[in-house]
Amino acid sequence: MENSRGTRLQQSKGRRLVLFPLPLKGHLNPMLELANILHSKGFSITIIHTHFNAPNSDDYPHFTFHPISDGLSEGEASTGDILHLLLLLTVNCVEPFRDCLARLLSNVSEEPVACLVADAIWHFSRLVADSLKLPTIVLRTSSASSFLVFGAFPLLREKGYLPIQDSRLEEPLQEFPPLRIKDIPAINTCELEAFYQLVAAMVNESKASSGIIWNSFEDLEQSALATIHQDFHIPIFPIGPFHKYSPTSTTLSIQDHSSIAWLDTQAPNSVVYVSFGSIAGLDETDFIEMAWGLANSKQPFLWVVRPGFIRGSEWLEPLPSGFLETIGGRGHIVKWAPQHEVLAHPAVGAFCTHSGWNSTLESISEGVPMICLPCFSDQKVNARYVSQVWRVGVQLENGLKRGEIEGAIRRLMVEKSGQEIRDRCISLKEKANLCLKQGGSSYQALEDLISYISSFFF
Ligand code: UDP
Repeated sequence: MENSRGTRLQQSKGRRLVLFPLPLKGHLNPMLELANILHSKGFSITIIHTHFNAPNSDDYPHFTFHPISDGLSEGEASTGDILHLLLLLTVNCVEPFRDCLARLLSNVSEEPVACLVADAIWHFSRLVADSLKLPTIVLRTSSASSFLVFGAFPLLREKGYLPIQDSRLEEPLQEFPPLRIKDIPAINTCELEAFYQLVAAMVNESKASSGIIWNSFEDLEQSALATIHQDFHIPIFPIGPFHKYSPTSTTLSIQDHSSIAWLDTQAPNSVVYVSFGSIAGLDETDFIEMAWGLANSKQPFLWVVRPGFIRGSEWLEPLPSGFLETIGGRGHIVKWAPQHEVLAHPAVGAFCTHSGWNSTLESISEGVPMICLPCFSDQKVNARYVSQVWRVGVQLENGLKRGEIEGAIRRLMVEKSGQEIRDRCISLKEKANLCLKQGGSSYQALEDLISYISSFFF
């Protein structure tokens, strides 16, 4: 094995990879983690990125960064309308990306570029790279299972499942058990056609690429990965969970290390960690239900409330007066938390989450049971898989109600009825860790990926 590792390093040495992340945290974080993994295998790394949500280059002195213009005005950059933002970015960035990539390829003073690794949402990037005779490998940052559903959008439209009708929400989605119509990825938009087109471009360009990298692992998504492999006829590389490759993580906002200091004072498995990722928000009424659900559960909680998370408020103004006094030291509220470290902390016993894919995988990797409150897009598929397929959590389906939140917390953390879920979490965590070890599926997939990239320049 040592020999083969040595050979891999030799294969990649003197070769550069150009990575092009989408500037949303749930996409940027895994791309930078992937960059670290590939760098550890001997590749030099160049990152092309937008000015909007630019990564902090000081955190990655071993990479080269090239900013490109994204053409966003201040108002456009701060819009909460994700579809609109993506549509603007995927138009505005085409030419700046082409110019930047062409410049990089013509620079003879650096190592030759082996391939482009682009986020799947940057659907134009493959054609640009093709025109410059550079292969493209796509990184898909969501689950393989939800990707299959996105890929079936044309079929789901043909069969009348899409656009989703309120009267049919509970019907099973025959093609994708155990999903129901209400679990089909959806976003709140009046531009449905534009959403469908973006999804189609993402799927088709992934299919036309030279391969797809997944932040997932075989034991978790064996059947979805096998179907994709069969349908797409291109190599796929499930090499996740990315964040477990190196012991230290770097996330992008200012980290609130008070979270860890506070967790250090709590009993093992006693704390509910609550976070809705980097985009999702709550209405004031839901926020207040959540607050009382947490308070009434009597468990300590660490709650990430991003500024602007509560629609129409700056930060915590809608908290009922006297709430903080009622909970005393039992609750700790922060604007951002070092999530990897939080989920790995022995005090954390449950994660109340919006079911973003990174959060889901991070929770699975640490064996933390989940209370799923999905908001939009693939989060609904992830939540259904967590509660019905992997059965490592519960999904709250009737909106945010304090009694249900309290009940779910008590079930997962305290009551006997949650024991089987807690046991399954431990066994899935073991699988997540084993797959990265020598002989594990992700370990092997990474070896295959390095060989595959190396084959581009022989
Ligand atoms: N995250 C974090 N601290 C927080 C909230 C989120 O580090 O307080 C990270 C989290 O670890 C994850 C990412 O932000 O890697 C969010 O990605 P996810 O796919 O879960 O959700 P999204 O933000 O894309 O909706």
